[in-house]
Amino acid sequence: MFFPRNLVCYLYDAMNLNQVFLHTGTNLGNRQANLRLANEWIEKEIGPIVQASEVYRTKAWGITDQPDFLNQALLARTRLSPFELLEKIQAIERRMGRVREVKWGERIIDIDILFYNDAIIETETLTIPHPYLHYRNFVLLPLMDIAPGLVHPGFGKTITELYANSEDTLLVEVVK
Ligand code: ADP
Ligand code: MG
Repeated sequence: MFFPRNLVCYLYDAMNLNQVFLHTGTNLGNRQANLRLANEWIEKEIGPIVQASEVYRTKAWGITDQPDFLNQALLARTRLSPFELLEKIQAIERRMGRVREVKWGERIIDIDILFYNDAIIETETLTIPHPYLHYRNFVLLPLMDIAPGLVHPGFGKTITELYANSEDTLLVEVVK
């Protein structure tokens, strides 16, 4: 049976499910398969994915002599608290074989929390909204696919406005 998206969102709201925007990235192995597998684990361990952006290809950020990244933004619903969510995404990264070595180095999968409802959280282990999202077109462009009018709770600007103000010059393109 087909349910219109706004009815589904209404039901999730009524069930008290939190709205989380996640960002996935990979630049090792079969990158499309890595993104698909991450989405499967997210649906199993975190909650339903209600929107997914196109997949974008981007040059590696920070350290540039490594394979291109594929990135995707997701809107999921979850009962988990922000810290439970962080534990789950790290467990998924580990299960998928991610080894934490070089910061910004090659990785099978990276899952970041961009927004959790309109929460602002600043601790040693967790910062929400994600502190770099407004600097990175490989985050802003996928996010614009699924939430162009979403307002960043810290800056009071929409994703579209943040992208218009971004000084990032790395090439980010949709994977056909
Ligand atoms: P990066 O995502 O910056 O490339 P990592 O994935 O290795 O690097 O994450 C480093 C640390 O960032 C994690 O151990 C986690 O505690 C912390 N962290 C802080 N805020 C967030 C967030 N919003 N989403 C994901 N990780 C976060
Ligand atoms: Mg990360």
